[in-house]
Amino acid sequence: MGLILCFVSIAVDAGEPWRVVILPGADPTQPAVAIQIRALRSALSAAAPDRVEFYTDSLDELRFDSSDLTPQFLALLKKKYENKPIDLVIGIADFALDFTTRYHKDIWPNASILITSIDESRVARIPPDFAYIAWHFDADNTIALAEAIQPQARQLVIVAGNSNFDDFTARLAEQAARSRRSRKWDVDVWSGLTLNELQGRLNKLDASAVAVIYTTMYRDREGRTFFPFEVVAPIAQASRAPIYGWYPTYLGQGLFGGAVISYEDNGRRAGGLAASILLGKVPTRGATLPIMRSRCIVDRTQADRLAIPSSLIPDDCEQVNAPPSLWNQYRGTVLSVAAVVALQALTIAALLWQHRKRRVAEEAATVRANELARAARISSAGELSASIAHEVGQPLGAILSNADAAGLILEHREPEVPELQQILADVRRDATRASQVVQRLRDLLRKQPVEFVELDLNATVEETLTLLVPEARRRRISIESQLSAACPHIVGDRIQLQQVLLNLSVNAMDAMQETEHAERLLTILTRPDKLGVELTVTDRGHGIPEAVRSKLFDSFFTTKAHGMGLGLSIARTIVELHGGTIASRSRDGGGSAFVVWLPSAARSRFRAPH
Ligand code: ADP
Repeated sequence: MGLILCFVSIAVDAGEPWRVVILPGADPTQPAVAIQIRALRSALSAAAPDRVEFYTDSLDELRFDSSDLTPQFLALLKKKYENKPIDLVIGIADFALDFTTRYHKDIWPNASILITSIDESRVARIPPDFAYIAWHFDADNTIALAEAIQPQARQLVIVAGNSNFDDFTARLAEQAARSRRSRKWDVDVWSGLTLNELQGRLNKLDASAVAVIYTTMYRDREGRTFFPFEVVAPIAQASRAPIYGWYPTYLGQGLFGGAVISYEDNGRRAGGLAASILLGKVPTRGATLPIMRSRCIVDRTQADRLAIPSSLIPDDCEQVNAPPSLWNQYRGTVLSVAAVVALQALTIAALLWQHRKRRVAEEAATVRANELARAARISSAGELSASIAHEVGQPLGAILSNADAAGLILEHREPEVPELQQILADVRRDATRASQVVQRLRDLLRKQPVEFVELDLNATVEETLTLLVPEARRRRISIESQLSAACPHIVGDRIQLQQVLLNLSVNAMDAMQETEHAERLLTILTRPDKLGVELTVTDRGHGIPEAVRSKLFDSFFTTKAHGMGLGLSIARTIVELHGGTIASRSRDGGGSAFVVWLPSAARSRFRAPH
């Protein structure tokens, strides 16, 4: 007992759903039909107090011969709905009208019938107990648009298929054209042509003289079937004249425009009227809604493709499918590219700024290093000054005594030319010697920019020796030089390299201060190395304690009472600037050796100017 009560109460709570059959004349997946069914279902569902059960049946009468199939279709539906009480049947388009008029009582005895999407010219055939919504294919205003767009055109081609419905739509267009008052059209109906034939013909049309209306093409004369919207793209591509029509599903496929109906609105209105009937707000019999007005719509992309100026398009025409502007189309890309470019520009600017800062700092450092090197040279020259003064003094003294001798000869006896010539030759030699020493000293002290040239290191060593020899003599040190003629040329600054040798040699001489006189030997060696030249300066001095070896080349490291600690650090800077290396080692038997390696001109990263 309890169970039964419970069941009843559920049935009452849930209520009965509305059961609605949708009967489209065409294939329900054809976009024109699908749009209407979707709009209809959602409008009806929204108004229903409960669920709505929808059933859809189609014979696709526009593409199949309905007279053959109708008996079987009828039997199927009878069986299908035998035990299904249907509240409402919504028939879409002509086939549904004919079929329901004849058979609705057999299949759905208690259902109300609503017919929609029926051309207004067929309203008279609708039984009085049916509800209906008619529409109007506005061929007239579609032709009016053609007249506005193509003021010169006098020929009107109507493109259609050859199914019954195609004949009907073609006739609508033809009648509208013939009854135009504003222009006398020369009408041509091309019905049932295959796509190829159509394309061939459309391609030859004079675009200014001919307007083309495409109505529908469900079937061509060879029996091929289509959804009419599929035909638009191929014919629009072939045609140089704009294609007019009134179906919204043709827009975006290549249709130029026309007075267009709305499937969406039509479906929604049908759903609304159906709900009113089912809710009992209006009696089914004769229930209807006023016919919708079509809207003039033009496809902007097609207008552009056909070079139709905007000025020809009537003001009340809505323009759709405007090609996206480049900015709209690529805004995202443009903005992100711009952002990346801006970021890159910022990074590059920052790098350039840093680079410039570093270059300025480097230039300043180079200037300071040059100044320092010169100061060090002045200091070395200072160290050598006593011996240099002696070196210059010696030839000057010799010149003086030669001048005296010449004076005496001239005073006291008849001068003998060969004797005087000898005296003059000695004077010249001594003067040259003195001036060479002065010249080398001037070179060394000159403030001049660093200049890299290809040079023979042996020659540079020999020039330096002229400055060193007097000092060595003064300190009772022997100098031995072994310069290999096989040394390759190098690229470098002559004065800077002289300074390296000078610094190493003065250090060597300093180190031998306490060495036995007989042992004091400074050797300067050059020899080719497979990639460059090796210059070695050795002495028999006190040597280098292991503990200080790693600090030798540090700036300001010195073990001397009056040392500056710059000689070796400057030497290393100069050598490294030349792409070379410098190292020290102890010698067997006491003393040190400093080895400088410089790359050959062929391997140098500097290119000597030619
Ligand atoms: P400074 O000569 O003014 O001291 P350097 O940079 O030329 O500066 O030399 C640094 C130190 O390296 C010297 O004080 C000395 O202790 C050591 N040194 C340089 N050359 C030699 C050498 N040939 N033998 C021994 N010690 C040396």
